[in-house]
Amino acid sequence: MSFRIYNTLTREVDEFKPLAGNQVGIYTCGPTVYDYAHIGNYRTFVFQDILRRFLEYRGYELRQVMNLTDVDDNTIRNSTAAGLSLREYTQKFIREFEVDCELLNLEKPEVRIRATDHIDDMVKLVQVLLDKGYAYSADGSVYFRVGAFKDYGKLANLDLSGIRAGARVDTDKYDKTDVRDFVLWKAAKPDEPFWEAPFGPGRPGWHIECSVMAMKYLGPSFDIHSGGADLIFPHHENEIAQSEAATGKPFVRYWLHAEHLIVNGEKMSKSLGNFYTLRDLIGEGFRPTAIRYLLAAVPFRKPLNFTFDGLHQAQHSIERLRNFRYRLTKEKFPAGENPALQVRAESARQAFEAGLDDNLNTAEALAAVFDSVRDGNTAMDRGEFRDGDRGAFLDTLTRWDRIFAVLEDTDHAKLVEYGFIKPSAATVPDSMPDASKDAVAAKLGNGSPAEAGADSLTDEAIERQIAERDAARRRSDYARSDQIRDHLLKAGVLLEDTKAGTRWKRK
Ligand SMILES: [Zn+2]
Repeated sequence: MSFRIYNTLTREVDEFKPLAGNQVGIYTCGPTVYDYAHIGNYRTFVFQDILRRFLEYRGYELRQVMNLTDVDDNTIRNSTAAGLSLREYTQKFIREFEVDCELLNLEKPEVRIRATDHIDDMVKLVQVLLDKGYAYSADGSVYFRVGAFKDYGKLANLDLSGIRAGARVDTDKYDKTDVRDFVLWKAAKPDEPFWEAPFGPGRPGWHIECSVMAMKYLGPSFDIHSGGADLIFPHHENEIAQSEAATGKPFVRYWLHAEHLIVNGEKMSKSLGNFYTLRDLIGEGFRPTAIRYLLAAVPFRKPLNFTFDGLHQAQHSIERLRNFRYRLTKEKFPAGENPALQVRAESARQAFEAGLDDNLNTAEALAAVFDSVRDGNTAMDRGEFRDGDRGAFLDTLTRWDRIFAVLEDTDHAKLVEYGFIKPSAATVPDSMPDASKDAVAAKLGNGSPAEAGADSLTDEAIERQIAERDAARRRSDYARSDQIRDHLLKAGVLLEDTKAGTRWKRK
């Protein structure tokens, strides 16, 4: 079966065929780096990562380009307020964005670039549009003449009958149905950064940035352009107009848009107090892999209702998968094989692949793998599972995780690496203080104190204490064994003694 995906341009689920063999060019609108990105942004970025990973899984070679919008009204306003140059100010939020991407296991695009490193290319494209009569200058700015591009509105499916010739808009964002000539180059304003151009000093409009960077790295025509649904109009409509007017070639073949995210059934907004960045959620004690899982679990064309309940469920779901894999790798089973079970594992693989082939239906892909986990666990509990059946189930899980990327428990190590958690190698001292002082000192990224918890103990420290407890149990020193278990419990680490050995997890 082949990969099919909903294309906003055709309004149909189209079979995916790249322009050139198995090479796929993808452009994704990146963040505007004036503040931390919020989880609504990350819904789109996680969708793009699932798309990317599935295309790689299917054997395509990717070239994904992501821009960083580092010049616009917001970046200029905030950098001025902070007394920093645009570059210094945006560098901080580029770094924070990179950290968030690492935490969420988002693969790095092949090309990630700043808009302000491409001003010369933008000036050139604006000049081409001026030369071809698709643009005009007014009051030092340059505008795209919407009426001159006959295909305008084809992506957003706009009715242009009410278009007012010559009406102009200077801002990057405007009303959904208000079609007006949009700005390509904004005349320089006092105290704002500007660049020289033949048509006067100024700075690029937001839309032209993406046309220029997309075509520079992917050519005039390429396979996939994606973003949030709120970018369809005007941003992506305008990208098409600028690019196709300049080159005379079709710009993008598949336009993919992720639906919006709501929080507890309401639109996310600062005034409602339900506006979350990734680090807000980490501060609430949620794991990045659980956040990734929840953002990936809803198919991209459905609105996603983001709740703390959903995050707790996501953590449990991940735990269930990890427990199953633990059993698969550690539990002892009778020798031999159970062919029916291997067929079961193989059919789960086919089902999750079929789900993703079908318009990236992540919900179906999740259901397929959880069905096989249930059946595998049942077979183990009934004594029907055989030593030779491990491989088939492990193979399905591992393949599935190449796309979903939540099986490895890397949260703690990453949170330590990026300074959200203070590391400690504390062992259980014989004198046994109440709780590790280091644990109390642990701070989360937003400055709120963490509970004295597992986050202060490194994986290695926990493993070492478990080994010591095992040794104590072997010499029948149950007092010491219980002491270590209690201490770990206070530090937020739960121990579970199984036939396959002692398993631990963080509360
Ligand atoms: Zn863009």
